Amino acid sequence: MSTIGFIGLGTMGRPMAANLVKAGHEVKGFDVVSDARDRAVEDGIKVASSAVEAATGVNVLITMLPKGDHVRQALLVADGPLSVLAPGAVVIDSSSIDVPTSRDLHERGVELGIEVLDAPVSGGLAGAQAGTLTFMIGGAAETVEKVRPLFEAMGSRTVLTGGPGSGQVAKAVNQMVFGSSLVALTEAFVIAERLGLAPQKLFDVLSTSSGDCWALHNFCPLPGLVDGSAADNNYAPKFAAALLAKDLGLAATAADSAGVELVVGRGAKDKLDELSIKDGHLDASAVITKVGLK
Ligand code: NAD
Repeated sequence: MSTIGFIGLGTMGRPMAANLVKAGHEVKGFDVVSDARDRAVEDGIKVASSAVEAATGVNVLITMLPKGDHVRQALLVADGPLSVLAPGAVVIDSSSIDVPTSRDLHERGVELGIEVLDAPVSGGLAGAQAGTLTFMIGGAAETVEKVRPLFEAMGSRTVLTGGPGSGQVAKAVNQMVFGSSLVALTEAFVIAERLGLAPQKLFDVLSTSSGDCWALHNFCPLPGLVDGSAADNNYAPKFAAALLAKDLGLAATAADSAGVELVVGRGAKDKLDELSIKDGHLDASAVITKVGLK
C-alpha cells in the first residue's frame, strides 16, 4: 500500500482520494479551502495543513486542480511540495491544464529525479465517485506500471497516450468533441421547440438515430428527459460551464499551435464563454439558455 499526498479536494479530487482510502492507501490531502479539508476528513483522508506537508514522506503526489495557473502555484514554486519528494517519487497531475504548463512540470520532474505523469480524466463526478474514470496518460510506461494500482482504485481504464503532455492534448480534443456535441444538441432542441416538435419526441429520435451521443444521455439540456440530469435540478453543476469553457479554450490554443482552423469547436467555445460571464457555476448544459431557449 502507498502513502499518497493529494492536493485539490474539490468536486473530483475528494471522491478520487476517497477511493484511494477505500483501496487501503493512506492519503494525506490538502486544499486551500477549509470546507473542502473538513469534508475530506469524513472520507478517511488525513488532512494536511499545507501542500508541502501533504507531500512530506509520500511516494506518490496527486494533484486535481482547476487550471494550469493553480498547478504552477501549487507545484512549480521554490520550496514547494516537489522539494520534499524523494528522487523516484511519482507525481500524477490529473487536472485538465494547458500543454506548456504540463511540459514544464515534466521538465521540473527530470531536474529533481521525480517521475511525472500528466493524467487528466474523463467520466465526471459520477465516474470519480464510482471509481470508473478514464485516465489519459502522458509519460513513461514504466512509471504508469509503478502506480497502476492507484489508477485502478480511481478508474476503470487507462490509455497511455504517449510522451509528456500528450494526456493533456487528448483531454483538450476530447472536450472539444464533447462541448461541440453539447452545443449542437442545444441548438437541435431549440430548433425543435420553435418548429413545434416536442422535446420528448426529439429525444426519442436522437437517442435511437445517428445523432445519438454521450452528451445527450449525460448532459441532456432540457428537464424531464433523462433521470437525474442537471437540467432536472435547475442546472446545479455536474460539470460547471466555466470548466468546460476553460477546456474549450485549451482546445482552441492547441488548435492554434497545430495550425488547425477550428470552426465547430470555436463556436461551442464562444457559447460556453458567453454563459460563463455570469453563470459559469451552472452546469454546462445550461448553455441552452444562450442558444435562444425561451
Ligand atoms: P473544483 O474547483 O471543484 O476543485 C478544485 C479544488 O482545488 C478546489 O477545492 C480548490 O479549492 C482547490 N485548489 C485550488 N488551488 C489550490 C492550491 N494551490 N492548493 C490546494 N488546493 C487548491 O474542480 P473539479 O471539478 O474537481 O475539477 C478539477 C479538474 O478536473 C479541473 O481541471 C477540471 O477541468 C477537471 N475535470 C473536472 C470534471 C468534473 O466533472 N468536475 C471532469 C473531468 C475533469
